[in-house]
Formats: sequence, structure tokens, C-alpha cells
Amino acid sequence: MGHDDLYRAGIGMTSQRTRERLLERLFEEGIRNLHVLEAIRRTPRHLFVDEALAHRAYEDTALPIGHNQTLSQPYIVARMTELLLGGGPLDKVMEVGTGSGYQTAILAQVVERVFSVERIYPLQERAKSVLRDINIRNVVFRHADGNWGWPQYGPYDAILVTAAPAEIPRELLAQLADGGRLVIPVGEHEQHLMLVVRQGDEFIHQQVEPVRFVPLLAGAIHS
Ligand code: SAH
Repeated sequence: MGHDDLYRAGIGMTSQRTRERLLERLFEEGIRNLHVLEAIRRTPRHLFVDEALAHRAYEDTALPIGHNQTLSQPYIVARMTELLLGGGPLDKVMEVGTGSGYQTAILAQVVERVFSVERIYPLQERAKSVLRDINIRNVVFRHADGNWGWPQYGPYDAILVTAAPAEIPRELLAQLADGGRLVIPVGEHEQHLMLVVRQGDEFIHQQVEPVRFVPLLAGAIHS
């Protein structure tokens, strides 16, 4: 095997054993959804960060991905995915904030189709290429301001947002199917993870736990 193949497969601090320890830790932290745990077990998180950070990829910690953005800690990725799946299997899911594409990869393994929106073009291009490399094909990407959702393919059975607005964007609520679930961090200085479930024209809000995300910004940019 050449360097690239070895790197992809994972050696040393990115090996399968290191990954198993992360799973044990997630289980201890209360993650119980087996589909989610299995997706995390299978997914090489080290490919979603810079090579210099690969040795930290299976620690339960957030990591920088450039452009002032961060890949969420595995516990948060797992928790958000588990909350989204709480009502049963999902067909169409929109994600706002593709970032490195790691959360996208986990999501894509537990739902039918993912529609992922990112405002920073180079991040999106990189995510696309990593997902292609690890053979994840049920994701489509849009370079746009996710505050407006992706109306063309809505309504969605679930929406996952990985950057925090001060208030939940109306357009995201509008693109949620009846019975659909929205998982989103909300707040400026203090943030909480929120689960919103749509029942007809009503939206049932539930505050889940305190979190820290980068802000949901306005407008799409090219660099
Ligand atoms: N889920 C990502 C990390 C999220 S960091 C991962 O697994 O790596 C938050 C991401 O949301 C960043 O990539 C940021 O550019 C993006 N973002 C922020 N505001 C946005 C908006 N209005 N529309 C789309 N993406 C947005």
C-alpha cells in the first residue's frame, strides 16, 4: 500500500481500535441509537480534518476545519442525529452547514437522502470530494445561504442545522413536513440545542441541552 491507501485505512492514532474507544465513550455519554453508533464506527473521521490533526480525530472533541469553522465533537454529532431519528426512519433530510461533511456522512448512513446546504464554497467542495472518496452517494449539495433552506426539494422529514441562529429561521419551519423534526442550536451568547416537531400548523419546541456552535451567518461566499 502507498501512503494514501495507508492513510485512508487508518494507522496508529486513527486505527480501528482508537475508533472503538470513541464508541465506548459515546455509549457512556448516553448515545444508544445503534444505527448512529454503527455509522460513527464505520466513518473515518480523520479524513475530514487536516492531516496535521488526524491523530486527534477520534478524541471526543471539536476540531478546526479552516475558514473559522469547526467540526463538532462526535458526542454532539451523535446526539443531534439520534434526536432527528427519534420519530422513526427518515426519507428526505435537509442539512444546513455542511462544513467538513462529517455530520453529513453520518446522516447519509442512517437516512435515505440528504440535501446539504453550505455558504462557504471551498468547504463544500472539500466535503464533496471526501464523501465521494468514502463512497457516500445519497447526498446532494447546494452552495447557498441556508437561512432560506432549499425549497425546491421540500418539505423535509427532518432538518438538521449545525450553526446557531439567534432565532429559528421561519423558512426552515416552513419547509418541515407535517410530523417533521428540526434539530438546531439556538442563541447568541448562551446557546441551547432545540428539537422542534411540527404537528400541522403547530410547532412543539423542546430545549435539549446547552451547546456551543459557530453562528449561522447570512449570505453565501466564494472563498
Ligand atoms: N457540520 C459540520 C460543521 C459545522 S460548522 C461538520 O460536520 O464539519 C458550521 C458550518 O455552517 C460552517 O461550515 C459554516 O460555514 C456553515 N454555515 C454558517 N452559516 C450558514 C448559512 N447561513 N448557510 C449555510 N451554511 C452556513
